[in-house]
Amino acid sequence: MLELEGVTVRFGGTTAVEDVSLRVGAGSVLAVLGPSGCGKSTLLRAVAGLERLDAGTVRWEGRDLAGVPTHERGFALMFQDGQLFAHASVAQNIDYPLRLRRAGRAERTRRVEELLELVGLPGYGDRRPATLSGGEQQRVALARSLAADPVLLLLDEPLSALDRSLRDRLAGDLREILVATGTTALLVTHDHDEAFTVADRMAVMLAGSVAQEGPSSEVWRAPATRDVAEFVGFETFLSGAPLLAFRRAAGASGDPPTGTLALRRAALRVDASGQLRGIVRRAVTVSDAVQLQVDVEGVGAMAATTQDAGIRRGDHVALRADLSLSAYVFSGNHQNNG
Ligand code: ADP
Repeated sequence: MLELEGVTVRFGGTTAVEDVSLRVGAGSVLAVLGPSGCGKSTLLRAVAGLERLDAGTVRWEGRDLAGVPTHERGFALMFQDGQLFAHASVAQNIDYPLRLRRAGRAERTRRVEELLELVGLPGYGDRRPATLSGGEQQRVALARSLAADPVLLLLDEPLSALDRSLRDRLAGDLREILVATGTTALLVTHDHDEAFTVADRMAVMLAGSVAQEGPSSEVWRAPATRDVAEFVGFETFLSGAPLLAFRRAAGASGDPPTGTLALRRAALRVDASGQLRGIVRRAVTVSDAVQLQVDVEGVGAMAATTQDAGIRRGDHVALRADLSLSAYVFSGNHQNNG
């Protein structure tokens, strides 16, 4: 098991990582999710032993890794751009860590075949990396990372260089491969869908610190703060009079809990029988829905969605609220579904 306690990394006057404590249980996958510049890569590099800690400890199986060099930690690192050896074949790339470990030839051949199968590229051994698509190259990089049987796999934005549809597909495959191999992994990414697909637990990192850590579904459903909510995709935030008006129209009873109501876009749908009324200010068609910005009567601007591709700016619409896609957020604590 990996344990970080009070990990702090500074660069001159900048604190890139501040007092981060996290655990990754054996066989589980933790995603550190945060915007660019929040300190994710620095944290990963600190775990790998590539960055000096200014405070705190990194432990593996209870052993403090201070002073243990990167190559003796038994961890593997995989980056956004795979970093394959361009002049070697796919098989030679995957074989490289096996050769370093002086495995026998027959075992190496068998293992390379097995890994190619695992990442969905059987028969690709003789190809050069340059003849592969970006997604295939990342599959090879993953196979190479797994070849050394690392006790911990460190993934730095492994899918970020790929386009959206490929990234979604590969994220699902990556999840399956990590589960099938029982790999313990720490993934850092800015993409919340990727974190949600690949990991069991999430740590949302903002400005160097962990703002919330827990099972992915819990962070998704009940973000602890407004900043976390915004980062995991909540789009509308209501408090004061607009909140009261919204609750009344949505049929919520009693007094609202203190705090701000955060709503996902899907919490508000165009529905002729809905009790909220509004005027569409913007309608943008995406792959499988139309995203709306609606001026809701008595409430104000809210993000909403519809499947009706005929809805235009200026249309008067009725809307239905689904409070299961909302959460009350505070600066320090949270409570779901008032
Ligand atoms: P992320 O991976 O979340 O994008 P980084 O860990 O790369 O964030 O960077 C966090 C902060 O630390 C940034 O402000 C970055 O400019 C700074 N930083 C990262 N590496 C160095 C370095 N080697 N020297 C100085 N500042 C750095």
